[in-house]
Amino acid sequence: MPKSKAILWHRKWKLWFSTTLNAGEINHSFTNSSRRAFIINLFCLVGVLFTVPLGILSLAKGNFLVGTSLLTIAAIYTLNHLYLRLTKNYLFSANVILYPLYTLMLYLVYSGGVNGTGHVWIYCVPPVSLFLHGLKRGLLEVFLFILALIFILFFLDTPFDRLGYHPDLKSRIIYSFVLIAFLSTIYEYISSRFNQSLQELSVQLERAATTDPLTGLLNRRGLEQQLEQRDWAAPALLLMDVDHFKHINDEYGHEYGDAYLQLVAATLEEQLTKYPNLISRWGGEEFLVVLEQTASKMDVAESIRKEIARVHLITQQGEPIKATISIGVTELKVGESVIRALNRADKALYEAKNSGRNKVVMTKSK
Ligand code: GH3
Ligand code: MG
Ligand code: MG
Repeated sequence: MPKSKAILWHRKWKLWFSTTLNAGEINHSFTNSSRRAFIINLFCLVGVLFTVPLGILSLAKGNFLVGTSLLTIAAIYTLNHLYLRLTKNYLFSANVILYPLYTLMLYLVYSGGVNGTGHVWIYCVPPVSLFLHGLKRGLLEVFLFILALIFILFFLDTPFDRLGYHPDLKSRIIYSFVLIAFLSTIYEYISSRFNQSLQELSVQLERAATTDPLTGLLNRRGLEQQLEQRDWAAPALLLMDVDHFKHINDEYGHEYGDAYLQLVAATLEEQLTKYPNLISRWGGEEFLVVLEQTASKMDVAESIRKEIARVHLITQQGEPIKATISIGVTELKVGESVIRALNRADKALYEAKNSGRNKVVMTKSK
């Protein structure tokens, strides 16, 4: 159907355009490097679109040097895009854009470009320089560019002196260039600050989405995410549930219930310092520990069970709050999902509860 075909083509073009500008990456973040890679590619694209027709025009008008310089720049920009796509080395690619750009702009001012109009292009220098090299280095380079500009305009023999321009034009070029540099600095400052706070916010949100606020442990999502990043062959799962926890809430109040959950979390962290592990609050008064070392899983589970039975909270009235924990243990088989393995751990935990609580039960290996 022609309509759906058109939509498909539109999507294809959009994807091509987006991946081209993002140096081949589809999922890009708000990092400085991806922002710069985007700007470098955008500049390469716009640069090629401008320099190719202008280069051809200059050649047609017999201005061989300007024409070939422009076309050479177009070729460099195209190669630069491909280089960035392959290597992601945006620092080098930024230099590939900026240094020929500075040279070309200064040459255009010195030579006058086409009919003495070369100087009108120099205003692209401050924004591009600041975008690509950041505030510090960008400003330094813009400052050096201004010095070179002053030198060319006021100390060298340029077409400005021959083409009958008003003498004030030279100083106005410098003033207007400084103004653009100033505005570009403000823009770069604001956008880098905005970018930074966006990144900080994204880290905060990521943390909030993956940790449990009461205990500071990982939550379900955090545990699953972390486990995906580990290269653990067949880790052990320890699913734990505080025994008769409801009693603590009923007897001493919810705040003491919360404090007890924090005590369990701290005890788990303390007991597991020696082993590579992930500790999570799986829900309510349930905790899930993933241990890399499968061999020591029963010893670890036993020591946790004993320690939980030993530690306690003291109420304001000096009364101790004690509880025990039941643990179901299983191994996560290679390629198996956590949820599937958890069903086994859950059964083992159920057995531990049914056989009197304060127990560690392991699933029978098949
Ligand atoms: P069992 O030994 O069978 O596990 O008994 P239990 O009392 O521990 O189990 P039950 O599932 O009956 O009760 C769990 C309680 O945990 C109920 C719920 O109110 C409480 N709970 C869940 N999350 C929190 C929390 O964040 N803070 C507090 N204080 N209590 C919570
Ligand atoms: Mg429970
Ligand atoms: Mg319980």
